[in-house]
Order: sequence, then structure tokens, then C-alpha cells
Amino acid sequence: MAAISINGLSKRYGMGKTVLAAVKDFSIEIADGEFVTLLGPSGCGKSTTLRLVAGYVRPDGGSIRVGDRLLSSPDSVVPPEARGMGMVFQNYAVWPHKSVAENVVFGLRVQKVSRGEAQRRVERILDIVGLAGLGGRFPNELSGGQQQRVALARSLVVEPTILLLDEPLSNLDAKLREHMRAELKALQRRTGITFVYVTHDQAEALALSDRIAVMHRGVLQQYGAPREIYAKPANRIVADFMGLVNLLPATIAAVNGGSARVAASGFHLDLALPPGLAAGDAAEIAIRPESIRFVAPGGSAGVAAQVAEQTYLGNLSEYRLVLAGGETLRVQAPAAADHPVGATVAIAVDAAQCNLFPKAAPDSRNPNLHQGQAT
Ligand code: ADP
Ligand code: MG
Repeated sequence: MAAISINGLSKRYGMGKTVLAAVKDFSIEIADGEFVTLLGPSGCGKSTTLRLVAGYVRPDGGSIRVGDRLLSSPDSVVPPEARGMGMVFQNYAVWPHKSVAENVVFGLRVQKVSRGEAQRRVERILDIVGLAGLGGRFPNELSGGQQQRVALARSLVVEPTILLLDEPLSNLDAKLREHMRAELKALQRRTGITFVYVTHDQAEALALSDRIAVMHRGVLQQYGAPREIYAKPANRIVADFMGLVNLLPATIAAVNGGSARVAASGFHLDLALPPGLAAGDAAEIAIRPESIRFVAPGGSAGVAAQVAEQTYLGNLSEYRLVLAGGETLRVQAPAAADHPVGATVAIAVDAAQCNLFPKAAPDSRNPNLHQGQAT
């Protein structure tokens, strides 16, 4: 069984006054055979967490277990090579002066696997990653995607029960990245290996993962299935990070049980009331661009707005609308309807797809404050 249990994990860097908490009190459970992604902006602690799981970094607090086996605690760390894990590093490097087969066989040499057996396993793995017959090539005779597969093969050949991948596709161009994404997912299904994957790319996380752990300044913000993370973000940080979102200032006009009547610029929405909010409070409504649609003007349901910008994208059009109170809204709509710049339009917001959050503290709007200092 390769279920991973991470409990209260913490890691600080530096000393004296400039201590930085790279990971703070981080806890998640990863099931055997699950594909879990650590997602967040650069510097939020993803790589540190992965290196803690791999055993390259000793935690200052908390523990990491695989099944019943304690692998990491502040007192003891089982070394990386004794953990049954494979790792593909952020800046994967294949040895340029060694052939593909020599690159891949390395881990088996370390394990003293016999020559014949090693050769069979290298061939099998090269076949699995789509490099069959290329064992004799050198890295400079391969494309970027093929080199990435060599790095993958090298970590897979030792038959890990857990594979750790740190932004493995970030060096590839967009098209290849999508192709490799599909291949990785297929590989994971075929092998049943538990994957812990790190990326800052939310589309990649949504496409690949069984569950996503969203991190911000070293702190876990939400852990859940892609649909849950996107549709029901736990807070405005998650809502803002997962794709485009409009965060519209609003006021809780009235509360009725678990439901709130929320007043925004020129319209009302009935939304589920999150804990900690009461009538009269300032709030923000998170509205996805695709949950706004154009309706016939003059109807009672529509909210008036003016088209400030239209971007035609072929399959859809993106609009920037200005509401009566001066707030702007980004809208994605089918491209067939054409609302020119300057036109007055009416829109309807699908309340079921919106989320309500307490009004943000002023400093959380500052994009330069991603790297939290320890307190
Ligand atoms: P991510 O992978 O999400 O971009 P990292 O885990 O690499 O983030 O880094 C988290 C924070 O910890 C960053 O502020 C980074 O500068 C800091 N950090 C990471 N590794 C070290 C280290 N070895 N020494 C000092 N600070 C580090
Ligand atoms: Mg990183």
C-alpha cells in the first residue's frame, strides 16, 4: 500500500529575524493509487513540500507516513533511496554524455540488479514511455519531449510505488505539454502508482488530478476534487487562483436561514451564506465569466451594462462590461452573438455558480505579498 499521510508538516528557512515559513502546518491524506497535485503560485512552498515527502528535507514539525511506516519527523528522516519513491525534478537533467539506456539504467545499477534483468526492465520502461528502440540515442539526438520521457523512464525503472513530479512539463511548448499531460494520466492509470504532482498551472492541475491541494504562502487553502475546487472555492484566494473570476463588492442586505440576499451594483442575488457573515456586512461575490449570460434588454431579470471591450476568440467572445456603479465584469459568451463596444446590454448572473466571501483584508489584494514571512 502506498497511501501517504502528511500531518502538521512545517519547514522554516533562514534564521534570526528573517525566518521564512516555507510550509506551515500542512496536512493531507493521499490514497493508494491517487493522483494528487500541489498547486499554487511560485514560492508558495510546493517544491519544499515535495522534497519533504521525498526525504531530501527534514521537517521542523509534523510527520510523513506511507502506510504505517513513519518516514519523516523532526527526529528522523528515512533517506530518499530507502523510500520506494521515484522523483522527477523541476529542472530535470539527463546526462548528455550517456545514451538513453545508460541514463535509464542508473537506478538499477545502484540497486545491483543483474545485467540481463536490468536490460529487460529498461526496454520495458522505454516501451511504456514511448521511446521503444531509442535506447542507443544520445540526449542531443532527442526532442525536448523525448528528453522529458527519459527523465520519466529513469524514475519509473526502479518500480516506485510513489512517483513525485515537480513541474515536469514546464520546459515543454504548449502543444507537447498537452500531449504529455494525456500520456502521464494514462501512465498513472496503467501502473496504479500513487502520483504527487507539483504545478503552478491550474489547467494542468484540473486536467490531471483526482484531488488538488491549493497552497498559498506555505499554507494549505483547500484540498478537494477539481470540480469542487473550481465550483466551490473555500476562499477568495482559491477562487482568484483557479482561472478567471470577477470579485464584485457587495453588501449582505438580508439573511434568511442559510441564505443571504446580497446587494451588488444595481442588482440582487440570493446566495448561500458562508459562516462568519451577517446582515449588513461587506462582502465580495465571486462570479466566473462563464456564469454570466446576455439576456433580452428591457426584461425584468436583466442587469444593464455597457460593453467596454470585446475580444473575439473564435469559439467564444470575451467581454469587459461596465455596470451602473462603475464596476467592471469579465464575461465569456458564445461567439455567435455579437455585442459591439459601446452597446448597452442586459445580463443575468447564474447565482448557483457564484460564491460569497467576506470582504478581503486590504493587504491580501497585494500580489507582491505571496511569500509570507513567519510570525
Ligand atoms: P514553489 O515550489 O511553490 O515555487 P518553494 O517550495 O521552492 O516554492 O519555496 C517556498 C519558499 O521557501 C520560497 O520563498 C523560497 O524562496 C524558500 N526556499 C525554498 N528552498 C529554500 C532553501 N533551500 N533555502 C532558503 N529558502 C528556501
Ligand atoms: Mg517549485
